[in-house]
Amino acid sequence: MHQLQLFESTKDIYARVFRCLCPRTALPEIVIAFKSYRNANCYIRWKNQRIEVRHADLLMSAPPAVTEAIAFILLARLYRKQVPEEHVAVYRAFMNDGGTRQQVEVLRRERSAKRMAPAQGTHYNLDQLFDEVNHQWFESALPRPAIGWTLSPARRILGHYDPVHHAIVVSRFLDSPEAGRDLVRYVMFHEMLHIKHPIRYEEGRRVIHSKAFRAEERRYPGFEELKEHLRALCNESSLPRRRRRRR
Ligand SMILES: [Zn+2]
Repeated sequence: MHQLQLFESTKDIYARVFRCLCPRTALPEIVIAFKSYRNANCYIRWKNQRIEVRHADLLMSAPPAVTEAIAFILLARLYRKQVPEEHVAVYRAFMNDGGTRQQVEVLRRERSAKRMAPAQGTHYNLDQLFDEVNHQWFESALPRPAIGWTLSPARRILGHYDPVHHAIVVSRFLDSPEAGRDLVRYVMFHEMLHIKHPIRYEEGRRVIHSKAFRAEERRYPGFEELKEHLRALCNESSLPRRRRRRR
């Protein structure tokens, strides 16, 4: 029996589980599709007189016992039957397994592309600014992230470093002559400091701008003036000032 299972297709497994759950019902057509989800989800539904099943493609390499457990869970849900406890346990163990979690994390990174506009803006090129600051300030040691402008001119968050995607995004709001190259360069510097000083956890609290981060930021040439300029630029916008911040 166990050896046979090794040669069963996903569709075969569903058919066998169906007969087990609904022995007196004629086997309907079952259509299986593997989808490139960002997780390990799976779905089932009745459509056009047939059962449609969708599995995340991550599950293609799952052990047959896991596929069988999923078939039991989904078909039982569809037919309002009790799911055998052993299958729930197999499914839970697989989903909570370190290897599965790691695979999901990798997929999430690969498949959730960062939405941003190219680094070459109307007035400033963010790639150039990154290289310049990296050379002058970090001995060109910072690994190059994905870099781009936001799609819309957000004023509340002017720059952002996303460690999951290793991406720096600068608000299109700053791609203007009023902002000036020096100011955009300083915002780039600030976000680059986030690469050098990753978020730390202290007593359960997230420390985004550590003391070391702040100290290094203050050494940037013209730091006070640039911050003042940034504040003035933002004050021209209509949003309440306290809601504006850089992250
Ligand atoms: Zn910040």
